[in-house]
Amino acid sequence: LKTSNKDAYPDWKAGEPVPYAALCKTFSLVELTTKRLIIMEYCSLFLRQVMRLTPDDLLSTVNLMINKLAPDYAGIELGIGESLIMKAIGETTGRSLAVIKQDQKEIGDLGLVAVKSRSTQPTMFKPRPLTVRGVHKGLMGIATITGNGAQGRKVDAIKKLLSAADSNSTGKVDITKDKGGPSEAKYLVRFLEGKLRLGLAEKTVLVSLAQAVIAHEAQVKGGTPSTCDVEKAEAMLKTVYSELPSYDIIIPAMLKHGIMHLKENCNLQPGIPLKPMLAKPTKAITEVLDRFEDQTFTCEYKYDGERAQIHYVAKDANEELSQALPDSNKEAAKGVAAIFSRNSEDLSKKYPDILAKLHTWVKDDTKSFVLDCETVAWDVTEKKVLPFQQLMTRKKKDVKIEDVKVKVCVFAFDLLYLNGEAIVEKPLRERRELLMQSFTPTLGEFAFATHMDGQELEEIQTFLDESVKASCEGLMVKMLDGAESGYEPSKRSRNWLKIKKDYLSGVGDSLDLVVLGAYYGKGKRTSVYGAFLLACYNPNSDTYETVCNIGTGFSEAVLEELHSQLSEIVIDRPKPFYSHSSGGQHQPDVWFEPRYVWEVRTADLTLSPRYKAGCKEGVDPGGEKGISLRFPRFIKIRDDKKPDEATSSRQVAEMYRKQESVTKSKGPAVDDDF
Ligand code: ATP
Repeated sequence: LKTSNKDAYPDWKAGEPVPYAALCKTFSLVELTTKRLIIMEYCSLFLRQVMRLTPDDLLSTVNLMINKLAPDYAGIELGIGESLIMKAIGETTGRSLAVIKQDQKEIGDLGLVAVKSRSTQPTMFKPRPLTVRGVHKGLMGIATITGNGAQGRKVDAIKKLLSAADSNSTGKVDITKDKGGPSEAKYLVRFLEGKLRLGLAEKTVLVSLAQAVIAHEAQVKGGTPSTCDVEKAEAMLKTVYSELPSYDIIIPAMLKHGIMHLKENCNLQPGIPLKPMLAKPTKAITEVLDRFEDQTFTCEYKYDGERAQIHYVAKDANEELSQALPDSNKEAAKGVAAIFSRNSEDLSKKYPDILAKLHTWVKDDTKSFVLDCETVAWDVTEKKVLPFQQLMTRKKKDVKIEDVKVKVCVFAFDLLYLNGEAIVEKPLRERRELLMQSFTPTLGEFAFATHMDGQELEEIQTFLDESVKASCEGLMVKMLDGAESGYEPSKRSRNWLKIKKDYLSGVGDSLDLVVLGAYYGKGKRTSVYGAFLLACYNPNSDTYETVCNIGTGFSEAVLEELHSQLSEIVIDRPKPFYSHSSGGQHQPDVWFEPRYVWEVRTADLTLSPRYKAGCKEGVDPGGEKGISLRFPRFIKIRDDKKPDEATSSRQVAEMYRKQESVTKSKGPAVDDDF
């Protein structure tokens, strides 16, 4: 391992920008294996080299490795589709768009199409080789192009990068060999497409980074780190990143203070959204009781709205909100605030009404906070919550307070940061007390989630019935005391369980699935798509595995809306990272880019040779059948989830196994580990 990376870049000298070719070499090594430990070793060796030679480039290197330009909350997106990339490849290499399209049809990987196009082109002059920081800067430039003629200027910027790609390589590349090798054009194009397809999970990069930094720090002192030190460094970086998911802040701090001092220097901070804690599904109250046994827990209403994380800093606090805020937010008279979605997207422009009122709910000695809550549509006349569908009708951007028709009430259920201090590690009981001390509820505007601390089955049953009457989805049951009741950012934890009213008879949770294809409608539905092909996501292989066709649960109006939305993202053929049966009769009429996530309910799960969900999870001893949904029904579009946040193959497999164990009357299984 060591030599394969080192020997490739003898010319990269200390202080010089990291050659993009060196990163691509690492990518190509990663691409050729599926073994996680080996992948991690390649990455950490490379990052160590960056630390040693050009630490200033560590941040841009990590960003390019995780296929991101900046943290999610920055909202920076490339905004280019397949057709723009094809155009750029064609214009850079002098090949016609028709030929590029034909290649794409045959090869199915635009990255490889770029390699093929490139290798047939004689090199007239040698542009300067690409560097990691140059590529990052170039891509950032593409993401920030807006306004008139934006598309054309984006194509020009892509061409600039592509024409400098592989300027040091000699001869033709055989794209059938070694997956196309370490070609820069291939990885550039894949970055532009949003998928490097290396099987390199973000978590792996995080752990590799910790290993690289601790190894480098030890080396500087003339030694090597012990296994215990490596484990500590990994744990440190994981914890800090879960509270402060921003390499932009963490990497400079790590370079300055050392990895073991990260926690003292990087903490949860207002302005940087953390990934929310999530719950595991259960199918019966008895399952909840089995899980918590003799530990105390609390039940809360599960409101059916939109998750929101509200960050606030009072003007007279000795702190800053690290996110640049849109002007509308300045209305919060006593302080500045921002609202983030489940996805870490900035919702501040969607909820100016919340921001304008916020200060009236904040008590005087509450100077800064991060609040976890649900925004729910509110019926002003009847003074009660409205179904989620009402919330969906609200405009998503640039909302003006005077135009707001659907009022919302904020239901707060957790407090993660208060008056300059992260409180995620405190037990829930304490966090809840602090929450209640820090705010003043106002009817129809701000409330604490209704809770009940009774531990008996009958009490929970009654509370569940009440929650349903109050238009909620069911209950959230949470560990109340002890270390396990701490807030676990970004985890789907067994310390939070959800009981939805619909689960009680069905398979458990609803699923959030990605739309990959569609079938033309028949009869009344001829002008729209009549049915769709859906998939779950497998983060290990970075693939979408098909799980069902769906044609039920759509109103005519919804079908029309979906048709116009999806027509924009039609692609010629399935992406190579779609996993579906190859039988001709099972292919949809059109394929889509993986963009939209839909919530779907199902009667039960079964095995089918037609679908691929969970194939790699060992559900079918023969290894050929995947899991499929029976009688799936569309519930809603999940705007707040990205495709890679869809239900995972592992979760689908877990649901299937649970159902199996129930039907075989082994009693409900307690899920610990997905
Ligand atoms: P779901 O479809 O159930 O919302 P999810 O994957 O978005 O699934 P889960 O962890 O499964 O999230 O369910 C928790 C969600 O329920 C939270 O994301 C939040 O939006 C919502 N919610 C409503 N009330 C509460 C509450 N009292 N405590 C925590 N979350 C709540």
